[in-house]
Amino acid sequence: MRITNISCAKCGAVYARAVSATLAPAVRGHNHRCAICDTPLEERDATGLVAYRLIIAPDTSQILR
Ligand SMILES: [Zn+2]
Repeated sequence: MRITNISCAKCGAVYARAVSATLAPAVRGHNHRCAICDTPLEERDATGLVAYRLIIAPDTSQILR
């Protein structure tokens, strides 16, 4: 399993992105969305399974109002 960080282009939330080629393929075309602002984090390729965990939340005081 390979773990990298990815940040949301809109709100700056940072996610740990874990990719495993050994697990069941994820659904094609599924894009994980930012838990903070609902922006798709990235375009998915169809291979392997990608999991995201929010590790650094942005300052939401300007987003949620
Ligand atoms: Zn976001």
